[in-house]
Amino acid sequence: MREQLDYPASYYAASANVAPLRPALAGTEQCDVCIVGAGYTGLSAAIALAEAGFKVIVLEAARVGFGASGRNGGQIINSYSRDLDVIERRHGRDQAAAMGALAFEGGRIIRERVAKYGIACDLKSGNLFAALTAKQLDELAEKKALWERYGHTGLRLIGTAELPSYIGSKRYVGALLDEWGGHIHPLNLTLGEAAAFESLGGQIFEQSAVTRIDPGTPAAVHTAKGLVRAEFVIVAGNAYLGDLVPALAEKSLPCGTQIIATEPLTETAAAELLPQDHCVEDCNYMLDYYRLSADRRLLYGGGTVYGARDSAAIEAQIRANLKKTFPQLADVRVDYAWTGNFLLTLSRLPQAGRIGSNIYYSQGCSGHGVTYSHLAGVMLAEAIRGQGQRFDVFAGLPHYAFPGGRLLRVPMLTLGAWYYGLRDRLGV
Ligand SMILES: Cc1cc2nc3c(=O)[nH]c(=O)nc-3n(C[C@H](O)[C@H](O)[C@H](O)COP(=O)(O)OP(=O)(O)OC[C@H]3O[C@@H](n4cnc5c(N)ncnc54)[C@H](O)[C@@H]3O)c2cc1C
Repeated sequence: MREQLDYPASYYAASANVAPLRPALAGTEQCDVCIVGAGYTGLSAAIALAEAGFKVIVLEAARVGFGASGRNGGQIINSYSRDLDVIERRHGRDQAAAMGALAFEGGRIIRERVAKYGIACDLKSGNLFAALTAKQLDELAEKKALWERYGHTGLRLIGTAELPSYIGSKRYVGALLDEWGGHIHPLNLTLGEAAAFESLGGQIFEQSAVTRIDPGTPAAVHTAKGLVRAEFVIVAGNAYLGDLVPALAEKSLPCGTQIIATEPLTETAAAELLPQDHCVEDCNYMLDYYRLSADRRLLYGGGTVYGARDSAAIEAQIRANLKKTFPQLADVRVDYAWTGNFLLTLSRLPQAGRIGSNIYYSQGCSGHGVTYSHLAGVMLAEAIRGQGQRFDVFAGLPHYAFPGGRLLRVPMLTLGAWYYGLRDRLGV
């Protein structure tokens, strides 16, 4: 018998809103759209399709939000893992214009859904990109100008003198505030989205790993004990998909990143660290990201890891970074430490497309997917409804194989990460 997969021990699992245990799929079901994976991508598509009157079934291998969507830093960061200037250079002005028009929509979708369905997920506004060097601050000024060219009107550069009112750390020389960014309790957002989908008549089966998808019309989606026949399939398993769809596995790489949660801080201590309660990510390639939880814990993440790690190893690595940023927390107690997998692509841009005529996918936000995955879900739904123009903006992006193939891609990437980590340390 397959082992029951439950949430890994994390601050989020410990503070999750009450949610039902959904049954596993048994027997045969029929629907318009079957979605593989109950993370943000799958649930965002599920809500959009259910709102449009489609009969939708979501199959989840473990629990709703078991993957990155229930474990992440909770940071609502706009745009993409590779920004619009890179897209302009690599893919030309037309592609950049099309992606730029969508770069700030994911955050909007989250805020609208939270309001519409009354999702309790501690939504806060504002994220800060923090510069460790003068060069990084110049780059933030360029980012501001770039995003403003694409219509963003909620950005503000913060200089060294003003910084203590935003971040209580001496590590930085300045920051860029994005008022359209923000943060959430990621697992509670996922659970709320699942409930919203079910309130529209949608069905979710947990502990229902898809083992095979037979193409055709309808397609047949198999689990250990059941089968769903569906006119359309959406594959939204991202870094947890394994080899279910070999063509998707070949051109992407699951990577782990890790987070610790401190004990709850006093109101005074928390207000000293992050007086405006914004979330922060720094500008290093191997970046640190952190924010306060609703009960005033500091949630601090960073680093890229390959393979599982125990919580002591995670704490040791992240605590060292946390101490550099906030020496005043040198002795703080750490209550939780966990990892989760995101899906890296070589271009660091998402991969979306169709396999045959009725199997759709979106994956590979490369660690920067809270907003894009919500947008992707809406665009997947549009494409299935026959309005694929926005989806095709992403479907047209090339998918590259990693150099070294399956055998060498992890060592090659570790070497790459080491190189960029060295550049961060040298400030070049
Ligand atoms: C630790 C961590 C921190 C991060 N922090 C941030 C952040 O602060 N801001 C940001 O923008 N991004 C962040 N990210 C990235 C972001 O969380 C992801 O891009 C996003 O959640 C991806 O959503 P998803 O729905 O595509 O995938 P997932 O949330 O991973 O969901 C995929 C789901 O599919 C299920 N599944 C897989 N295979 C099958 C199968 N065969 N059958 C059935 N179900 C299957 C899995 O169990 C899983 O629940 C972080 C990621 C991690 C891991």
